[in-house]
Amino acid sequence: MKLIRHGRSGAEKPGIMALDGTMRDLSSYVRDIDGAILNPDGLSELAAIDPTTLPKIPEGTRLGPPVSNVSKIVAIGLNYSDHAREAGMPIPDEPIVFMKAPSSICGPFDNVILPRGSEKSDWEVELGVLIGTRAQYVNPSDAIQYIAGYCVANDISERHFQLERSGQWVKGKSADTFCPFGPWLTTKDEVPDPQNLAIWLELDGNKYQDGNTSTMIFSVTQIVGYVSQFMTLLPGDLILTGTPPGVGFGMTPPIMLKPGNVMRLGIEGLGVIEQEVVAWSD
Ligand code: ZN
Repeated sequence: MKLIRHGRSGAEKPGIMALDGTMRDLSSYVRDIDGAILNPDGLSELAAIDPTTLPKIPEGTRLGPPVSNVSKIVAIGLNYSDHAREAGMPIPDEPIVFMKAPSSICGPFDNVILPRGSEKSDWEVELGVLIGTRAQYVNPSDAIQYIAGYCVANDISERHFQLERSGQWVKGKSADTFCPFGPWLTTKDEVPDPQNLAIWLELDGNKYQDGNTSTMIFSVTQIVGYVSQFMTLLPGDLILTGTPPGVGFGMTPPIMLKPGNVMRLGIEGLGVIEQEVVAWSD
């Protein structure tokens, strides 16, 4: 099942992809796609609906982030061994956990706005994990039960704010539009092995990231179990699981995002998302 949210920013409605590829409106069944319906019972109820009986959403309708009311975005740094090498950082012994402000969320095809003064904004394609059931002190061997599904996410990062201005990474990760994700939430039943998915990103048609989730240092279930030792994961929370090699600041010389650039990124079986970079304007 592929769940979407459609309509203008801030007023999105719930929807679902039918097998024929058309988008259908779910408003008559559910108020929104959020933590309240991402538990196993809620997803079963939605799965019992025949999408072809639902109203079609007109082509060209904007897609919003596929989940609303995200209480937190937890991200994992340096989780691909080859990306850690590219960043010149040692392979971590434990997952490196940081946060992104939920206000950084935007739709999968929305513009990414460079924050005021940004000269070093960068891309990071990541496998996003959406929590379906409240998770606290979860054992990694049980962690799959707490996951609702997966998506493609772009962990946009201002490297100067993140790495050169002291303090925590959160400053470089949290600007508005720095967390596009989607295009839909693919429920976990459609992703039998999240640790064997091609994951890639192109900038202006040139492929910079071309990895596979099989090279993650810590697996999706290890990450959910680990993070739940330190904070309670709530339904609808988004976890970003790290990026493969090929980010802009790993290039020689570094490549940083400029207005007009187009990022196109995808993960095998989870869809493709795309954002144009635009300048900040007061
Ligand atoms: Zn990241």
